[in-house]
Amino acid sequence: MDTTKIINENYIEEILKSAKNYTKEEVIDIIEKSKDCFGITFEEAAVLLQVKEDELLDKMFEAARFIKNKIYGNRIVVFAPLYTSNECTNNCLYCGFRAANKELHRRTLSVEEVINEARAIQNQGHKRILLVCGEDEKKTNINHIVQSVEAIYDNCDIRRINVNAAPMTVEDFKKLKAAQIGTYQIFQETYHRETYKKMHPLGLKSDYDWRLTALERAFEAGIDDLGIGVLLGLYDYKFDVLATLIHSDYLDNKYNVGPHTISIPRLRPAHNSALKEVPYPVSDMDLKKIVAVYRMAVPYTGIILSTRENKDLRDELLELGVSQISAGSKTNPGGYEEEDCEATQFETSDERDVDQVLSAVIKQGHLPSFCTACYRAKRTGEAFMELAKDAHIHEFCQPNAILTFKEYLLDYASKETREAGEKMIERELEKILDGKVKVETIKRLERIEKGERDLY
Ligand code: SAM
Ligand code: SF4
Repeated sequence: MDTTKIINENYIEEILKSAKNYTKEEVIDIIEKSKDCFGITFEEAAVLLQVKEDELLDKMFEAARFIKNKIYGNRIVVFAPLYTSNECTNNCLYCGFRAANKELHRRTLSVEEVINEARAIQNQGHKRILLVCGEDEKKTNINHIVQSVEAIYDNCDIRRINVNAAPMTVEDFKKLKAAQIGTYQIFQETYHRETYKKMHPLGLKSDYDWRLTALERAFEAGIDDLGIGVLLGLYDYKFDVLATLIHSDYLDNKYNVGPHTISIPRLRPAHNSALKEVPYPVSDMDLKKIVAVYRMAVPYTGIILSTRENKDLRDELLELGVSQISAGSKTNPGGYEEEDCEATQFETSDERDVDQVLSAVIKQGHLPSFCTACYRAKRTGEAFMELAKDAHIHEFCQPNAILTFKEYLLDYASKETREAGEKMIERELEKILDGKVKVETIKRLERIEKGERDLY
């Protein structure tokens, strides 16, 4: 396959160049168009990425907030990463797990240890885990990933496991599918070939095309729930954001379903990183603009934010279009059981525990959701997108968010969060317009109060 046709660098550079001559009127027209929630063209996204004036940026943020509210309401899905291994044969210059980092405490969790970690995450109140690992064929191969997924489902009340792992063959993706993962997530890191080569000098990951085509192999294996992203800071974010949109559109055209999520990881300091500084710094304002552009360009794609970002910025990004956040995260294998700074992938910026994050989220007026119903009711891929685009998804999401949040409040919340959360549930019930759905939701809330769980 000629992958330069998927990501055509000359085309991206050309539209970014001509977008520099934008006029204020043009920007306002694009912003207005975006509010119809049908997305915008690559050329229009390029224009928005070039915007520098505060006045226009504010208008973009306003539009992003509008779209976020229209499509997702005030729900925020919450999850935690679980690192199964930090062994890695690659040498990505920016990552603490790179093979050349001889000082890292290497560890691959046994199945027992994976279960213990998952239970520790569950005891914080989570129902959704993102499994993360290095790439080492001997230590953390597909069998280890599949065993970990199966062990968690069999032994814990974790209801959805997403996986962020290195590219695989179709055969291995089929094993992942059979283990019933939720989303398969992989970041291209940068779509700029020359930079990619510099950042990934060794190992399997040095093959740009093998990585770029991973999602197609996953799809062929039956995984229709896919997550993409770039590592912001490696190259010009304008190029990489546009390339992400182009990749998303390519998958959408080819399979009739685009990625379910886009992540926005920003480069963080890592133990013994080979990068002494961020090659292309992305400011907080740039990150806000990136979230707004994604929200306007692909309104139905979830945006995932991790604890790489600090509390205050996370609060702002939630408003602009983020739909999923991690909370209470550890980035070393075994980190929920014991702290080991010499084993982490990168430094996190939000050290709050889950209850503290949720308390802040509620204060901001967002409804935390631990819902995993779509995936278990087989509303994924094309089926999910059809419902989402018809706005029917609210009929499922709002009650399920309320019910799973209620479980959290009863089983894990502090007194203060429970009180604030119960008030929020009362307000959220009012938003369910369909009388039957409302009555059923109230009945289910009563059943949960009496001890039943996992009603959807
Ligand atoms: N090893 C697999 C791979 O590289 O695809 C999967 C897991 S890797 C641990 C997950 C992601 O962490 C990478 O795709 C990269 O974007 C991100 N990452 C690595 N180093 C980072 C750093 N210093 N700061 C922020 N994110 C980082
Ligand atoms: Fe290994 Fe992934 Fe880190 Fe690269 S980003 S060194 S592949 S764990």
